[in-house]
Amino acid sequence: MNFDLTSEQEMIKRTLRGFADEEVAPGVLERDRTKQFPVEIFKKLADMGIMGLPFPEEYGGGGADTVSFAIVVEELSRVCGSTGITYSAHISLGGAPLYLFGTEEQKQKYLTPICTGESFGAFGLTEPNAGSDAGGTRTTAIEENGEFVLNGNKCFITNASYARHLALTAVTGQSNGKKEISAIIVPTSASGFTVIDNYEKMGLHSSNTTELVLEDVRVPAENLLGKRGEGFRQFLITLDGGRIGIGAMAVGIAQGAYEKALAYSKERKQFGKSISSFQAIQFKLADMAMKIELARNMVYKAAWLKDNGRNFSKEAAMCKLYASEICMEVTDQAVQIHGGYGYMKEYHVERMMRDAKLLEIGEGTSEVQRMVISRLIGC
Ligand SMILES: Cc1cc2nc3c(=O)[nH]c(=O)nc-3n(C[C@H](O)[C@H](O)[C@H](O)COP(=O)(O)OP(=O)(O)OC[C@H]3O[C@@H](n4cnc5c(N)ncnc54)[C@H](O)[C@@H]3O)c2cc1C
Repeated sequence: MNFDLTSEQEMIKRTLRGFADEEVAPGVLERDRTKQFPVEIFKKLADMGIMGLPFPEEYGGGGADTVSFAIVVEELSRVCGSTGITYSAHISLGGAPLYLFGTEEQKQKYLTPICTGESFGAFGLTEPNAGSDAGGTRTTAIEENGEFVLNGNKCFITNASYARHLALTAVTGQSNGKKEISAIIVPTSASGFTVIDNYEKMGLHSSNTTELVLEDVRVPAENLLGKRGEGFRQFLITLDGGRIGIGAMAVGIAQGAYEKALAYSKERKQFGKSISSFQAIQFKLADMAMKIELARNMVYKAAWLKDNGRNFSKEAAMCKLYASEICMEVTDQAVQIHGGYGYMKEYHVERMMRDAKLLEIGEGTSEVQRMVISRLIGC
């Protein structure tokens, strides 16, 4: 057993900690208020070679491991959940399916601009009537004369306004009386493709969440990602990796809220003493620190299993479930420790609490994680 980060992972952690504090934290309240997408931050991350971090260098990536990816997501999320989810979705939902299932030509054409940061990565699975039951996809892709003709709607899709292309799932036919779901790469500039950025969200205000409308969108048949009918299996594999990203985001937001609460508890005086001298407050902080430590270890373990080519589906579901639930608890308690000030935007913790809620919903709700874990432990 070895719990130490490698020297490369340590360096990434140090670099991203500094970058997050100096470049991401300063505008976070303003971006939350104005819902401005942090394009400039991502240009800088692209210059640092971070946008393709876990993908091979031949596609413009950094050749790093999943633990390093989790570290980047944690450090960005510690100061800004919106920046964290944008990066996490870019890599694990946008880039990963292209890397895992794309042909060499598709990787060169579509993964490379994601790694260099010229395009953001996005993934279109959820539909108005197909959320937890993603197999309920109604978007269709009918093959005619060497092209797929796509029609349908996707909802809640992260990053699509800033993506040049994205993989999405669609019904390509019937096989043995069942829907045949395939993944198809669609350029967002295609005729008949509309990306709508119009949601009024609870949190993650400066992340981009969109509706996609496809009306007779035509793409060449060669844009099929992987094999026909494999779309459902591909998105399950993609989501396994994505859950490590959500787990890391949860650890980051929780860590940020805990640090704010610890610092505030030392400054705030009531009854003539710092509130950190009250055991009720100390015990809250102790519980927060313990839960964050455990969640981080779970995220690292799932990432390590993935990096070592081992099965990691159960650990990914567990780390996502545990980390998102403790993130909600920790951010709630961080607001509590701040008292009335915690309810005010300038103290940051209310934003963290709003941002945290998505983590119990996106990439499989907590109920779905429990279903996945139950299946994997043989219930
Ligand atoms: C900000 C944001 C970003 C997102 N980004 C993306 C993205 O980039 N790409 C993408 O494809 N999707 C994305 N999503 C969609 C997200 O993954 C779905 O919202 C999520 O999977 C839940 O689906 P749903 O909203 O339809 O809820 P539903 O599936 O309708 O669930 C409603 C409730 O019923 C529960 N439930 C459902 N089925 C069961 C069951 N069998 N047993 C017990 N309880 C059940 C759920 O747990 C939940 O509590 C995003 C969502 C948000 C809000």
